[in-house]
Amino acid sequence: MLNPVFERYEKDLTELARTVWENPEPGFREAVSSRAQIDYLRRMGFVVTENAAGTQTGYVAEWGSGRPILAFLGEFDALYGMSQQADRTIPEPIPGQTMGHGCGHHLLGSGAIAGALLLRDLMQEEKFGGTIRIYGCPAEESGSGKAYMARDGLFSDCDAALTWHPSNFNMIATGSSQSCIQCYFRFTGIPAHAAAAPHLGRSALDAIELMNVGVNYLREHMEDSDRVHYAITKPGGSSPNVVQAFAESRYLVRSTTNPKCERLYERVKQIARGAALMTDTRLEIIFDEGLSNTIPNFVLEEVLDDAFRKAGVPAYTEQERRYAAEFKATVSLEDQLSDMPRACCEPERLSQNIRTSELCDYYIETKRSDVCEMGSTDVGDVSWVVPTCTANLNCFSYGGGAHSWQWVAQGISDIAMKGMLKAGEVLAYAGLTLLRHPELLEKARRELNRRLNGETYKCLIPEEVQPHYYD
Ligand SMILES: [Zn+2]
Repeated sequence: MLNPVFERYEKDLTELARTVWENPEPGFREAVSSRAQIDYLRRMGFVVTENAAGTQTGYVAEWGSGRPILAFLGEFDALYGMSQQADRTIPEPIPGQTMGHGCGHHLLGSGAIAGALLLRDLMQEEKFGGTIRIYGCPAEESGSGKAYMARDGLFSDCDAALTWHPSNFNMIATGSSQSCIQCYFRFTGIPAHAAAAPHLGRSALDAIELMNVGVNYLREHMEDSDRVHYAITKPGGSSPNVVQAFAESRYLVRSTTNPKCERLYERVKQIARGAALMTDTRLEIIFDEGLSNTIPNFVLEEVLDDAFRKAGVPAYTEQERRYAAEFKATVSLEDQLSDMPRACCEPERLSQNIRTSELCDYYIETKRSDVCEMGSTDVGDVSWVVPTCTANLNCFSYGGGAHSWQWVAQGISDIAMKGMLKAGEVLAYAGLTLLRHPELLEKARRELNRRLNGETYKCLIPEEVQPHYYD
């Protein structure tokens, strides 16, 4: 059951999420998605500032005045290679479309707006002062939109930031996430006939290969929780009989904290320099993006936890369960069980639910944790500046996780929309608790300060790098 106040927005929000799903756009180029949200928020009486942090699609929408300032974080970018027909239970792309909403960000942005609208109405009812802000954050998947927004100080006066993510589970997120730096290594050599005059050539492709070999040896000597991934973005052409004069790779370096990530990045750069020396090629390093590890906040986790219990989990009809069962059947039970969140309090209960139910239909208690989980999010940058917390709301069947065709296919189903609206309720109730008990905001801030232990936020993106889009 939805909060009755909320029913008036249900149709609008569902349409908004659908519009974003139907127009999947890459990071910093979410023109249609961002416009749809901005127009709607203006109609709903929010004051919107566009082009946040020098981006074309980021925005900040505000309602109310004075303290506290509560931030809701929304996203709306899609993923390459994730085109998929709605409701189809086999992988089947939409003809002529390459992108798709494989991480549910069409729901994420709409759910953040849902939370803000409901909180506003509850604030008016209970005559609370304060400010609600919705941050329309571009380029989460690729581009680090929130890192630029944090670097520009857009979160500096906020008292708390609340967000959510579409998921296979109903639970509060806990623990940290990895810092990461992404960059391009470009090698330039000299072209030559590979048979007639190889001695005149200097191979950029050799440099790419030698760098990768070097990095693969580095793996033996890094911490278990470090990660380095690469893609060869430009191999230097398809002709083996030409010495490749230009080649490029894109590297992603991750570690548990920003300083560790910067040190690991430096070691990777040294290997690139070595490869350039060995091959007599010229190296150029282009910084692409960087984002910070997440600072957990147990005070806000408690607040979101209470809000989630109050909102309850979505109830599903028999028809929705049958729909979910078809998607669940596309992944083996073994794989479903191997993808359980580590921070759940009663793993036996969850594994039983995965065995017997088509989708997560109960609230999973979270075991509070400081552990750094593998993977990164630009929510991390926000969490350095303001106490931040994330709720995960079930929007899909079991089986098929983030960045899967199953998530795209189920993206505009009733199940997905129920999760999105329920997320709005959870966020709004958490906001209301913080307005009723401002001492919790102080407590959350003290926890953040304690965890930072004197360190201050330093964005990993160098000052001269601006929001950008690379094909
Ligand atoms: Zn995501």
